[in-house]
Amino acid sequence: MRTSDDRYTKDRERIDLALRMIQHEARTTTIRHWTGLTDDRIRKLYHTYVAAITPTVRRHRGKSPTQTAFFLKNADHRRQTATLAGLFALLGLLHTTDPAPLGSAAGLERGILVCRTYETYLLLQHPIYLSFEHALRLLSLLQRRSELKPDTCRGCQSLRVIDALGSRMAHCEWCDEDARDQLLKAS
Ligand SMILES: [Zn+2]
Repeated sequence: MRTSDDRYTKDRERIDLALRMIQHEARTTTIRHWTGLTDDRIRKLYHTYVAAITPTVRRHRGKSPTQTAFFLKNADHRRQTATLAGLFALLGLLHTTDPAPLGSAAGLERGILVCRTYETYLLLQHPIYLSFEHALRLLSLLQRRSELKPDTCRGCQSLRVIDALGSRMAHCEWCDEDARDQLLKAS
């Protein structure tokens, strides 16, 4: 009885996480990867629960975004990337050097934490430049620190994201903006 209870709870958690990811318009491959559910079950969940209740949610097919340059391409993107990375850091997601296997109880918990982080980001920013898929890509890049890495601004000590191989700017976007404002006032 206990075993079947555990199995039911875990299945329920997988479904909850899948529904949350569907709401954020995650791709089917992403949902399968994080929850361990089959494509068929994800499709049924989408049609049964989401399409009927929130028809504006879209299903995305194909590959997830991979371009690293997207995160640093302009000041707006750099600010939002830094905000999201800061939220990941606050919830301890950037310290996970050996993440729990996806689909395991700890892996599902991590998935819920990632959704919660993205939902906080949605509340803080407008307009939104980073999709949920971008958020997952950013998290993966920052955990590996191969192409992008977290860094501390020398001016305000806030967390920002920099190109791991590129030249390093001394200050974050917010400090640069303050410096530009000061220059304008002085001129
Ligand atoms: Zn700064």
